[in-house]
Amino acid sequence: MKCKSCGREIIRIRTMGRTAVCDAAPVTYWPVPDGTEPGAVLGLMTPNGQEVCGTLTGDLKNAIGIAYHPHTCYQRILVYRGRDSWSRPVYEEPDGGLLVDVDPREDRKPDICTKQGNAFDGEPCDPVEADFLFFPCRDTW
Ligand SMILES: [Zn+2]
Repeated sequence: MKCKSCGREIIRIRTMGRTAVCDAAPVTYWPVPDGTEPGAVLGLMTPNGQEVCGTLTGDLKNAIGIAYHPHTCYQRILVYRGRDSWSRPVYEEPDGGLLVDVDPREDRKPDICTKQGNAFDGEPCDPVEADFLFFPCRDTW
């Protein structure tokens, strides 16, 4: 079946009383080695509906099996954290990376940049091109 929002192939997996929507392409996953940064650990869903953590690299002989990515419409989730010293809205990604909207006017598209040194009041650094999902909503001027 296809996702109604983005048109990509998805599958539904039954899990503990709910249905998880995942990307249709299965991936091979490996156990998470000690000392892995939290941002490199993926939450995946096995074909029989078990939520597992894994990474996508390793020796084929050590692979655990196949699993599916939760389908997020390829959006990156940004959680609102407040405004920096220039009154620009700051968002945090699940891996702890801070991003700033340098054009937060309501009638403009967000212009998202990383923060110098990942500091809350750091200068905007590199632009980030992606589809963003603002949680709970986008903060605008
Ligand atoms: Zn979608």
